[in-house]
Amino acid sequence: MNNKPIFVTQPFLPPLEEFYEYIKDIWESKWLTNNGKYHQALESALCDYLGVKYISLFSNGTLALVTALQALRITGEVITTPYSFVATTHSLWWNNIKPVFVDVDRSTFNLDPEKIESAITPQTTAILPVHVYGNPCNVQKIKEIADIYGLKVIYDACHTFGIKIKGIPVLNFGDLSVMSFHATKIYNTFEGGAIVCHDEPTKKRIDNLKNFGFVDETTVVTPGINAKMNEVQAAMGLLQLKYINSAIEKRKQATERYRNGLNGIKGITYMEDMANVKHCYSFFPIFIDKDKYGKTRDEVYEELRKNNIFGRRYFYPLISQFPTYRGLESAQKGLMPVAEEITEKVICLPLYADLTLEDQLTVLGKLNHN
Ligand SMILES: *Cc1c(COP(=O)(O)O)cnc(C)c1O
Repeated sequence: MNNKPIFVTQPFLPPLEEFYEYIKDIWESKWLTNNGKYHQALESALCDYLGVKYISLFSNGTLALVTALQALRITGEVITTPYSFVATTHSLWWNNIKPVFVDVDRSTFNLDPEKIESAITPQTTAILPVHVYGNPCNVQKIKEIADIYGLKVIYDACHTFGIKIKGIPVLNFGDLSVMSFHATKIYNTFEGGAIVCHDEPTKKRIDNLKNFGFVDETTVVTPGINAKMNEVQAAMGLLQLKYINSAIEKRKQATERYRNGLNGIKGITYMEDMANVKHCYSFFPIFIDKDKYGKTRDEVYEELRKNNIFGRRYFYPLISQFPTYRGLESAQKGLMPVAEEITEKVICLPLYADLTLEDQLTVLGKLNHN
């Protein structure tokens, strides 16, 4: 048995000496937060890197989601996916909005556009899809539906960084996109997040909302929250940008090694790259078919754990199965057959930029022994 644990992820950290230079400067300036110079520099650097017009930085992705819903004054019911991290739906709850769960599609495990229309009611005001595992949603189809019914679209883009469809940044679809820069994500600022928007008035509204609603020293226009990113986080973000391309390239290579290594193992399937998509390789989910593999997902998961390999069942249980949400009509068993099936099959294998070949072979070896 390998004696060093292999976790599902490990944060990417730039060289400490380089970060120290930023910290020294922040100490000397005594400017720690409130739209400081690193905050401004990171907003502009991210706009360039991601190919978006406006971005507003946040202290974390969850507060960015909560604020995005406030920014567009979303109310009533919002159509969303059960196959995500709980924060997606929690952001609705914090805004007193009723989540309406809709099943995912079989190829991407993203919200199935074919099933959205039948869930729309007079109370529906928006759609909140997630680009799960960093694979883009069917953004065209979702836009068509939103346009017909006059709905807003807010993408939870917390699994993505720099992904593109036919060369177009995915963040440019929808009214708003929300990002997370949490330590476990592909690009991190310790904790952090952002909202991407497409026009200046919206950018201003979001900036006000994350800073208590202040527009100037004496004017408060809205009951805003405090969700500002601080200077240390922003400095980390600037430094991380220097290394992000090589981090994504390393994840891509590890992904390809997993795919090659899993080929031919009966009962384990994985996801391929999508046509015309530039991926960011944020996760490596595998799906266990117990009849063909001879073991259930949970048996495999526990065996890996016993061998110090900590895969994660993203996403299990479904959000709709948690006590807070399971009473909703749309959460009832049998209504979302694809999500209900996938949640019982999935394990995300360890994937991060510094994952060693040796550790990867250990993981593959365990799956192959079974
Ligand atoms: C990580 C994540 C969030 C929350 O982001 P935080 O920065 O941790 O608050 C929301 N949605 C999804 C899909 C996520 O993966």
